[in-house]
Amino acid sequence: MKFGGSSLANAARIKNAARTVERFSKDNRIVVVASAINDVTDKLVEIGDLAQKGRIVQARARLLRLESFHLKTARAVLGRTTSKELVDIVDGLNHELERTVEGIAHLRELTPRSRDYLLSFGERFSSPIVAQGLRNLGLRARAYTGADAGITTDENFGEAKPLTEVSYHQIRRHLEPSLARKEIPTVTGFIAATVDGTITTLGRGGSDYTASLLGAALNVDEIWIWTDVDGLMTADPRIVKDAVLLSTVSFAEALELSYFGAKMMHPRALQPAAVRKIPVRIKNSSRPSRDGTLVSAGETKDNEKVVKAVSIIRSIGIVTVSGTGMMGSPGVAARVFQTMGSHRINVMMISQGSSEATISLVVARRDVETAVRTLQLALLGQGSVDKVVAEKDACIIAVVGSGMKGTPGVAARIFSAVAQKNVNVRMVAQGSSEYNVSFVVSEAQGPEAVRAIHDEFHLGKPRS
Ligand code: ASP
Ligand code: MG
Repeated sequence: MKFGGSSLANAARIKNAARTVERFSKDNRIVVVASAINDVTDKLVEIGDLAQKGRIVQARARLLRLESFHLKTARAVLGRTTSKELVDIVDGLNHELERTVEGIAHLRELTPRSRDYLLSFGERFSSPIVAQGLRNLGLRARAYTGADAGITTDENFGEAKPLTEVSYHQIRRHLEPSLARKEIPTVTGFIAATVDGTITTLGRGGSDYTASLLGAALNVDEIWIWTDVDGLMTADPRIVKDAVLLSTVSFAEALELSYFGAKMMHPRALQPAAVRKIPVRIKNSSRPSRDGTLVSAGETKDNEKVVKAVSIIRSIGIVTVSGTGMMGSPGVAARVFQTMGSHRINVMMISQGSSEATISLVVARRDVETAVRTLQLALLGQGSVDKVVAEKDACIIAVVGSGMKGTPGVAARIFSAVAQKNVNVRMVAQGSSEYNVSFVVSEAQGPEAVRAIHDEFHLGKPRS
């Protein structure tokens, strides 16, 4: 069971999470994975940036608030329990965190490696606090860091990749005896370590990935992701009033939805579970009796539906590279993507017309300016490319469903539904998985397009 930051936002939520574990621990053996409390990771990012810029006064002020927040939360979880251990742990971490921030400020340097070390504090605070919450209920919980639990990664700080075979072996060696002793291992999400013990992180949102790795290593029956919503929906309920919960989706659909969905999920999170065909359940920590969404390797119940969900990604922009000389001239696309890659700009969607006179890319809106500037520098004045332009008022609409594969006419239905609402489509792409069709419209027309598709494929509540 993995608890996300919002499910651990304060002492009351942490106690609620502990009660949930207790409730299911009667019939199951459970490993708990804890994210950092609420938005603590974001706060650590901020503190690190301030310290690196030498703004030590502001960094210290934020640090003090974070320190007292964790201390207060730990005390509130402890309640009348007299154990000094947790307070000592939190004090110790606070002290270590202070020295880390002072060090960054002193050197004015924050490398990917020291950043991972800094970000690791979020989960290192939360997991002993959660373990205490479990102990208060009489459960035998024991806090582990990702490294203690056996997760070993390469040295790609910031987005480290687990060494699967070694990790699986070690996870079993460390956690199986603990489970056999009827303990509930309470593991930090997101963080791990290299072979020589240096702390790494698995990338933002990485706690889901931790849960999936531990689940695969221990070959568990199910992996449960506790969050603050009921599960995956057919559309954003703020846009579509009759949006409904998806009871079952396949791994492939979940992957498309997590990429295109409003919730940030780690891109590799589902992979270890998918490989071992371990079902993943997404559940609401405020309403634990609800079923949530089941991500399963088997056939899904709603298989007769070609389209399952439609989502929107805002805050994007289109960058278009054009030039009559691009026709039949190889290497332009390679230069374009190389340029994006070397500036660490993520390309979310690509299209090239068969006239070959333009290539369009969708990138996050905050990257548009850099994308245009670097593409101009790399491509203009060399014969084939005449122009690099951008359009910032745009959003992506992604239509997802594995039933679309091999079903003719789905694209026609999507685009005529959108056309009937007078929504202008600026760019289209279909992945060759055929599990999604995505297109770009103006930001203002996005919600209308989502509703049109939701209606067209009858994704909502049945009308009475
Ligand atoms: N705390 C980390 C983050 O905010 C990992 C996670 O929450 O999954 O990115
Ligand atoms: Mg988080």
